[in-house]
Amino acid sequence: MTQSAALDDTEGGRNDDIAAPEAPGADVGLINLEPTSRQYRTAAAAVAALAIAVATVAPIAATPLPQFAAFIPFLNATILVTDLITAILLFGQFSISRRRGLLVLSGGYLFTALIVIPHALTFPGAFSETGLFGAGVQTTAWLYIFWHFGFPMAVATYTWSKDETHGVQGSIWPAIAACVILTVALVLVLVWLAIAGDPFLPRLFTSASGLTPLGRFAPTFDLLICTFALFFLWSRRRSVLDLWLMVVICALIGELALTVVRFSLGFYVSRLLSLATSTIVLVILLAETAGLYTRLARANQMLRRERDNKLMNLEAIVASISHEVKQPLATIVMRGSTALRFLGHGQPDIEKARSALNNIVNEGHRASQIFDNIRDLFRPPQREFRPVDANELASRVLDIMHGELVEHRIETRVELMPGLPRVWGHPGQLQEVLLNLVRNAIEAMDVMQGRQRVLQLTTEKRPHDGVSIKVFDTGPGIDPEKLDTIFDAFVTTKSHGMGLGLAICRMIIERHEGQLLASSREGGALFEIILPVGSPPNAAPH
Ligand code: ADP
Repeated sequence: MTQSAALDDTEGGRNDDIAAPEAPGADVGLINLEPTSRQYRTAAAAVAALAIAVATVAPIAATPLPQFAAFIPFLNATILVTDLITAILLFGQFSISRRRGLLVLSGGYLFTALIVIPHALTFPGAFSETGLFGAGVQTTAWLYIFWHFGFPMAVATYTWSKDETHGVQGSIWPAIAACVILTVALVLVLVWLAIAGDPFLPRLFTSASGLTPLGRFAPTFDLLICTFALFFLWSRRRSVLDLWLMVVICALIGELALTVVRFSLGFYVSRLLSLATSTIVLVILLAETAGLYTRLARANQMLRRERDNKLMNLEAIVASISHEVKQPLATIVMRGSTALRFLGHGQPDIEKARSALNNIVNEGHRASQIFDNIRDLFRPPQREFRPVDANELASRVLDIMHGELVEHRIETRVELMPGLPRVWGHPGQLQEVLLNLVRNAIEAMDVMQGRQRVLQLTTEKRPHDGVSIKVFDTGPGIDPEKLDTIFDAFVTTKSHGMGLGLAICRMIIERHEGQLLASSREGGALFEIILPVGSPPNAAPH
């Protein structure tokens, strides 16, 4: 979320009643982001570079340089823009986290942005010889001292209150408005004090434009405040913002350490450092905001994908129900027509009609059983499990499919190993799996012309505590390239197929902690179900 978006969200009062700790996105802002070791290294390198620059310039800081009248207006205009943007971005961060500390820090940047305006306007030689608004000799100097006192104080206050768990309640706008009004009022009072109170304020300069003892001590006082803010920050550092604020305070210390007479080398370098203090947090805020925006966009994409997956699941459930129920319904319709035909003869064949009607009743029960099986698929796996005899299962499936096998002129070969141990499972679901495999075998052999159609059903005990049920057909077999994908949902080679049968079968067998394997061999396809015997399978995660 961009900062302005964060502010906009709250504008309509949508977030108004949210308390700070639970505020949505409260864990996203810079105030909560922990610095990475790379950021620590970069910050340390920046401080080292600052220290080297200050140490190099300090011995020759008093070297006089040419006087550029436009230097201070240009510099202050830049600081005004960067600090104003930083303040706005920080207000944005505040609207996310609602921490009072951030509000104070935003106020600190706003204070700097505002105080540089009178500082530039009253600077002697910038806009007029003695400075605008009737500025006195030391107006600019006092404004500079207020500026470099106010900002580190705001940082120290931020550090003190940043961990407060009780943030601003209700709408953020009154809090932001109060902060802006207070800051503007403070700056106006200080400007008035520095201009109107110039004759009454303690002297900073001697008549020979040297410094009085107070003039010499004032920057040192600001420097002490900065050092205090730095140590305070260090002891309570936690976030990326804290880390870079420490760099800002270091730059401020460097600036104050180099402050000597105007238009000397130290003066120019120190003012450039004040530009650095103003841009560091802005750059970090922009970089982190861009990073957060990217992460947000990615999360949004993931959510969309998740929603599509859910729709896909819904589609899969509906398709799987229709896939499973179609078969008994087709049989019911077919047997119904048969019964009608037998009853419609001149001499109705009651026996055959009764048999067809019995079939209809059985298929009706089976359809209802299918719904139960599907519902059980979405329940904890163990609930409906009981000991199942694989041979009984195979025989029942062959009974159900008998009519179809005969209709498709398929010879059935059955080899059931006697005395098989029982497997632990859901009888209805296992029956559906075997029915699906047999139905697939029939459909596969349907396309074969002029070749004997054989369905071979085998059960056997596996060497290591398992039972295997094999379904072999003399169909075209499976393309080796497709072997890996036939168990995926919606993979089909049939014009009318849905590609769900094998996907559901594998899901059922895996819920039984078994295996469903497919292989293609000379003259057909082999599917093998391997089920564990003995103890019930462990409850798989639902
Ligand atoms: P559908 O039957 O709707 O296509 P399945 O998931 O049951 O969906 O099967 C997926 C694909 O696996 C089939 O389209 C087919 O290509 C292949 N397949 C399944 N059983 C056999 C078999 N016995 N012989 C050859 N191919 C098979």
